[in-house]
Amino acid sequence: MEHLNGTQVQGLTLKLSERIRYLAARIRDELAASDVQHYRDLAGAVTDTADEALASALVDVDAAIMDRHVRELRDIEAARERMANQTYGICIDCGDAVPYERLAAYPTAKRCVRCQQRREHDFAHPGTPSL
Ligand SMILES: [Zn+2]
Repeated sequence: MEHLNGTQVQGLTLKLSERIRYLAARIRDELAASDVQHYRDLAGAVTDTADEALASALVDVDAAIMDRHVRELRDIEAARERMANQTYGICIDCGDAVPYERLAAYPTAKRCVRCQQRREHDFAHPGTPSL
């Protein structure tokens, strides 16, 4: 990450930790909102189906949103690890420097634009087995 100067690294570090704080708050909100929903469901459920109601309430709890938040948190953690290992801003596919402009817009970027596009292109073709 020699292509990034101290100020840029500091700015990106700050962006990552701000994003963590934002996501943590969102996850807390989701959980709080889901609790409300959960109690509402339980209140409306007959006793012997309470477990079932609880189960379905938890399943419904915006699992997709939570999933996305958690996945993004993991991406941020990984970016911070790369930062600590001095491999941040280096494309994991080709080893080229990821330009600062891309990192500023997308601080968790692991790939340069070219490799990212190639990857998305590959994924967009169902003929290519991905598993
Ligand atoms: Zn690359």
